[in-house]
Order: sequence, then C-alpha cells, then structure tokens
Amino acid sequence: MIDSPVDNTTQRAAGSAVVVGRAGLQTLVDVLATRGYTVLGPTVRDGAIIHSKITSLDDLPQGWGDTQEAGRYRLRRRGDDALFGFASGAQSAKPTLYPTSVMLGRRSRNGNGAPTSVGTPPADAGESGDGASAGPYALLGVRSCDLHAIGIHDWVLGGRPDAGPDPDYERRRRDLFLVAVTCGDPSGTCFCASMGTGPRPDRGYDLALTELLDDQTHQFLLEPGSPLGANVLAQLPGRPAEDADLAAAHQVAQSAAGRMGRTLDTDGLREILYSAVNSLVWEDIAARCLACENCTMVCPTCFCTSIDDTTDLTGTTTERRRVWDSCFSSAFSGVHGRSIRTTVASRYRQWMTHKLASWIDQFGTSGCVGCGRCITWCPASIDLTAEAANLRAERNGANGAQASRALRRTT
Ligand code: SF4
Ligand code: SF4
Repeated sequence: MIDSPVDNTTQRAAGSAVVVGRAGLQTLVDVLATRGYTVLGPTVRDGAIIHSKITSLDDLPQGWGDTQEAGRYRLRRRGDDALFGFASGAQSAKPTLYPTSVMLGRRSRNGNGAPTSVGTPPADAGESGDGASAGPYALLGVRSCDLHAIGIHDWVLGGRPDAGPDPDYERRRRDLFLVAVTCGDPSGTCFCASMGTGPRPDRGYDLALTELLDDQTHQFLLEPGSPLGANVLAQLPGRPAEDADLAAAHQVAQSAAGRMGRTLDTDGLREILYSAVNSLVWEDIAARCLACENCTMVCPTCFCTSIDDTTDLTGTTTERRRVWDSCFSSAFSGVHGRSIRTTVASRYRQWMTHKLASWIDQFGTSGCVGCGRCITWCPASIDLTAEAANLRAERNGANGAQASRALRRTT
C-alpha cells in the first residue's frame, strides 16, 4: 500500500535512470507488447482523453492539453509536441483493474429444470470500456494520484487481513505493468499536492516517466521502480541519466506542485466532518446535487458495487454480475426493503464523511487522492474542497450554508 507523501523537495540521484527519445519510448511500447501485455495509454476520443489500447506513439494525445474547472472539461491545443501535457482524464486505472461489470457466474438448466452448468468464466474481460482483452495489461501514463488510488485498492480489494482478496482484482493486479508519469500540467481542479499524493510518482510503479520538453529537445527520463521495470528498461535504447536530467525532472514536478488549481486543508478535517452531522452545509449542497452519481463513478478510490441477476428470454440461463454502484442512490442504502439515507443531503454527507474521515479509521488513509475528478465531472459544479472549507468555516463560527452560497456567487 502506498501511504507516504511524495517527496518533491529532494532531487533524486541519477542511479539507474535512463533518458530516451521518441524512438526509445516507442521501443518501450513494442517491448511491452512483445512480452504479452495489452498496452493501454491515453488517447483522444469524443473530445476527451481516455485510456485505450495503443500500439504507437501516434496514438498518444500529441500536442493536446486540457482545461478543467468545476463542471467543465475541454481539450485545447498546447502549441507544442508534448505527449503527456494534460491532467487526469475521466478515467483512472479503476475501470481496468475493477471493471464496471464483471460476470460472477452463469447458470443454465435443461428441460427438467436441473442445472446443467454453473461457473465463472475464468478470463471475463469485464466491461472496462477500453475495448481491450482481459489482459495482462500495461498501463502507460498513470498519474501519481492514481498510483496512490491503486495502493488504496490493493489494501481494500487485494486481501487485507479482515477480508480475503477479490479474485478478479487480484488476477488483474498481479499481472499489471505500471508506467507512471510525472504530472507537468495540473488542472484547475487538481489538489494532489495537498493530499501528499503527487505530482511526481514516488513508488508503486514499474517505470516512472518524466517528459522533458524544451525548444531544442524532446526526451523522456525513465526511472525503474521494480526489478521487472529495470529488466524492461535494459531493453531500451537510451543513455544513462545525468544530474542535469534529474534536475530537469525535479523542476517539472516542483513547477506543477505550485500550479495546482485547488487546495484542501486536511488539518483536523476528520474531526470537523464527524462533528458536522447536522450542518446546514449538507442541505445547501442537496439543493444543487442531482444525485447523478458522476462523482463516485469517476473517483479512483470509490469501490461500491451491487449484484445484478438477469435471466434470458427463454428462462433457461441466468447470469450474475457485479456492477459498480454508488452511495448517491437511495437503493444502495436499502436495508430490509427501506432506504436508511432517504435524502440527498444524507447521501452527500455519507460520501464526503467516508472519503475524508471514516475512511481513515477504516483503512488507515484518506479515501481522497486529490485527483479533482469529482469536481470536474459534477454537472452541478459541486466542489468538495470548497464544501470542506465551508464546513471548517461553520465550525469556526461562520454560517457554512451562507458561506457556500457566497462562494458560488463569486465563481
Ligand atoms: S455531487 Fe455532483 S456529481 Fe456527485 S451526485 Fe451530486 S450532482 Fe452528481
Ligand atoms: S473524492 Fe474527488 S478528488 Fe478525491 S479521489 Fe475521489 S474523485 Fe478524486
């Protein structure tokens, strides 16, 4: 599990790092494919950057950046040839490791009603949205915030002492090859620097990549983070990294850390949330929240699911699937036929309190890695960093709901 802050203040030693050009990066994609990985990387589709199968650097979003604000996501032309010059898109690694829909079993019966087959397909690709096979996968361009989210899921889903591993997650995770990337251009909704989860990957990867782009050169610093990563790196054409390369990579991260669009003051936040059960802020949020579930769908750490049973039209075959669900639906909190969170206010309170408070008691870390997706993709522009500030202001004597309304008037 990844649990310590990223160190962006200390420049790293060159060690076994290598600098490659575009040809070397293409070789990395080729080597991973030759080793049997389906390589998933960022691509442009439908006006957004999403993970898809790639075979060439031409598949990457060359020259594309993004503009993100609360309730707003737009691609923009950067005016250079950067391959990773954008912030987190809607997808994290979650759809690959924990697909939206996974077959748990299928049961058929013959004409006498007796079951003829029961079982789970061993390599169900799931509906991960990447159009790829069931793996093994190599993920290219994973952000540091998302590495930390994987670390959280490794604990929650990968077999913590009080619960066995999720078999599907375990299989996908076991074979995963991770190429992380240093964020050079955080968005207006990023706040990983506040959460100690970025912008430079510090662990949990096989290879870490930092794009070094200026008027004269376009290179990629690659640092190994595992024996397998070092083994792959040895196959790439490149030169040993020098101190100047490490300094340049350090500068990329330092600059990005200073340009985060959001901050979140986590000092005492857990206690503030626990004492805010009856806060007016929840009602104010509920007046805007559509309970659309977008925030939970895009969140890289949310993992709630439910079970869907379906029967085919002939009535002879049933399927059981695990599908993503959300604490924003009233049905999700149903107990003995009744919902215990009937209001939107109570559901938002549940989500935010779990993310930023009870998650810490449950799993030993915050449930938020500061990726900003829930802010960008909320159609009502609800911003958990602003709402956390409102709760803090309310605790300090201000009327949080009034503060919340004043904030919206000024944005
Ligand atoms: S907070 Fe925003 S994204 Fe989340 S359920 Fe409400 S309207 Fe949808
Ligand atoms: S709560 Fe929001 S900012 Fe935090 S990890 Fe989830 S989507 Fe990202």
